[in-house]
Amino acid sequence: MMIYMDNAATTKMRREVVEAMLPFMTSEYGNPSANYEFAGRAKNAIEKARADIAGTLNCEPEEIYFTSGGTESDNWVIKSKGLESRHGHRNHVITSLIEHHAVLNACHYIEKRNADVSYVGTDSMGVINLIQLEDYIKTDTSLISVMAANNEIGTIEPIKKIGEIAREHNIAFHTDAVQAYTNIKLDMQKLPVDFLSVSAHKINGPKGAGFLYARKGCDIMSFMDGGAQERGRRAGTENVSAIVGLARAAVIACRQMEQKVGRECKIRDYMISRIQKEIPNARLNGHPVNRLPNNINFSFERVDGGTLVAMLDQQNICASSGSACTSSSKEPSHVLKAIGLSDELANGAVRLTINEIITKQEADYVINCLKYNIKKLQSVD
Ligand SMILES: *Cc1c(COP(=O)(O)O)cnc(C)c1O
Repeated sequence: MMIYMDNAATTKMRREVVEAMLPFMTSEYGNPSANYEFAGRAKNAIEKARADIAGTLNCEPEEIYFTSGGTESDNWVIKSKGLESRHGHRNHVITSLIEHHAVLNACHYIEKRNADVSYVGTDSMGVINLIQLEDYIKTDTSLISVMAANNEIGTIEPIKKIGEIAREHNIAFHTDAVQAYTNIKLDMQKLPVDFLSVSAHKINGPKGAGFLYARKGCDIMSFMDGGAQERGRRAGTENVSAIVGLARAAVIACRQMEQKVGRECKIRDYMISRIQKEIPNARLNGHPVNRLPNNINFSFERVDGGTLVAMLDQQNICASSGSACTSSSKEPSHVLKAIGLSDELANGAVRLTINEIITKQEADYVINCLKYNIKKLQSVD
């Protein structure tokens, strides 16, 4: 038996998702760009997926562009807006210190070319400093990119307020909503957001699929050059089955959002309170209230997070000592450093990200293993 508590890294595909995808991996293999009825069925499936996804965001289908996932959607916006021509001037982009590497490394790329980037800090709970953000705005600022919710510590960011600031200054606003989508209601008629990134495999869909929402009238250059797919903005034959799976996953997750969020919050809060009561000096990382329903992140004294995760692995528990992308490196997490943790506490962090089907027994087993392991590690010296 395995207890999977790394749902921020990836999720299991739903049976309904696999079933929706199967025909497009077997009999319905037509190229959506071809002009016969057989291919038209694939084309129709893509357009139905686009309309279904638009429904979950209360936006127009024409505002949805399918991509290979969160990383591509983030890169597309940042490189497009960050390198757009300014008649010889350098561009300016504002982002935050706690973004996913897909955003941060795309920002490093544009910094080496035609753009300057300012990185906004956060408070100790990981909430973006809005005063600093406004302070960084210049006449050359072309984009603000701040995530809707953080993948490591689960803090939910005030994207409505950030969007309002961006609007006031006539600056495009992008949000990486890979963790927020299907956890938080996102209504594009109400949110002042111009671009929004989503990934399928974080919402029980397939890996290698996602989309970029781009508000009508918000200019963005084509990312892949080639055929006329995705209205000429993202060339390449569509990953039909993955697109169908993404839409299926999105529709189901949005339909069940309230129930799922309710269940997860209950288990999350139960686990957080047990850890706080039973493990001395455990420090909860991230916001205590405005946090993702599935996120539990703690730092423990005199404990190495990597060692703790390896011990949990021996006990058949999948957990993370940082984000999956950084856990192979020895550097402490940039997010935990940004919220002000010492190297010791940053290295002593463990992230558990649950799903709605976890039972109380499983939660208890994980807590008991955590207690046992931490006691053992702390008694070593
Ligand atoms: C997982 C993740 C990404 C990357 O998405 P992929 O589809 O894996 O490329 C980007 N941003 C955040 C916040 C994520 O959690």
